[in-house]
Amino acid sequence: MSQFGPDYVRAIAPYQAGKPISEVAREFGLDEASIVKLASNENPFGVPDSARKAMAEAAAELGRYPDASGFELKAALAKRYDVPADWITLGNGSNDILEIAAHAFVQTGQSVVFSQYAFAIYALAAQGVGARGIVAPAKGYGHDLDAMLAAIEPDTRLVYIANPNNPTGTFIPAAEIEAFLSRVPAGVVVVLDEAYNEYLEPKDQFESAQWVRKYPNLIVSRTFSKAYGLAGLRVGFAIAQPVVTDLMNRIRQPFNVNSLAQAAAIAALTDKAFLEKGAQNNREGYRQLTAAFDELKLEYVPSYGNFVLVKVGEDDGAGARVNLALLKQGVIVRPVGAYGLPQWLRISIGLPEENARFVDALREALKAALR
Ligand SMILES: *Cc1c(COP(=O)(O)O)cnc(C)c1O
Repeated sequence: MSQFGPDYVRAIAPYQAGKPISEVAREFGLDEASIVKLASNENPFGVPDSARKAMAEAAAELGRYPDASGFELKAALAKRYDVPADWITLGNGSNDILEIAAHAFVQTGQSVVFSQYAFAIYALAAQGVGARGIVAPAKGYGHDLDAMLAAIEPDTRLVYIANPNNPTGTFIPAAEIEAFLSRVPAGVVVVLDEAYNEYLEPKDQFESAQWVRKYPNLIVSRTFSKAYGLAGLRVGFAIAQPVVTDLMNRIRQPFNVNSLAQAAAIAALTDKAFLEKGAQNNREGYRQLTAAFDELKLEYVPSYGNFVLVKVGEDDGAGARVNLALLKQGVIVRPVGAYGLPQWLRISIGLPEENARFVDALREALKAALR
């Protein structure tokens, strides 16, 4: 056993990211161009042209440090979400926001509440500051806000809620979240992680950014990684009242969002056509995938995100086995055994032809798994 570092750091099980295309090509002797990756909930259209253009212009200034205050990006976000610019914290991806919140509001020995099957980073962010993670049991595959409220202990300082949740795709309606916020003890900060908000149908959308006016302990977290197609650049942001925002900005690295990311995010933020194209593709892809699951008689969790959680077998080896059979055919999806869901796989919604490749490979994989 290593002598280095605190126990709580040695206890951390590293995050398992989606396999990169290059790695699968090497491991299975496949041509990179033939591989389909539906494993990290990325935007299948890639970077919007508007962002590409903005980055090309910003590249000329890469010899200089980025704007540490993110003035222009915050101004654009303030306008878009109708909040003052000093209510915004920028993050190196929203993952950074989740960690900044843990560092700013929780000390070693205190506790953090999140749901069973919630986004894996919550447990890691809590562990990273030596906090105790309290897992509230899920209802179905989604958050049970009553159970989460009941799980809050006197030393709890932070609650993470993913809406929609990854990897299950479940969604909590506005009224339930507001009811939760109105009952949470005042000293507990709530991070509402809305990484997939842009994929919600208009009828499910609500102005969570405006709730921040009413709840001084609320942090709304968003990202440019999913619907905006900028996952590789790493840019996300938080909206919260100035007292909370000020504390987060003390923890934040001064240059945590690079200049290309700032420029690209500003351009993507107002690229309505790109968002609409993505939402449309997602709607159709969801129908395409779930129709195939219905036909194959596979159970899936109805999803509000750009991915679907599907059950590929009854035994605890099913997810890993079908995943391997898919990899051999050059299709990368995400096993979720680490979430306590070893019979399931999470499939990101891709372009129609990518979804079709996956469905064909899945048919083969299920046949192979039966042999
Ligand atoms: C992808 C994801 C994020 C963070 O993504 P970033 O790339 O770090 O912005 C946050 N929360 C959930 C639930 C996600 O699925």
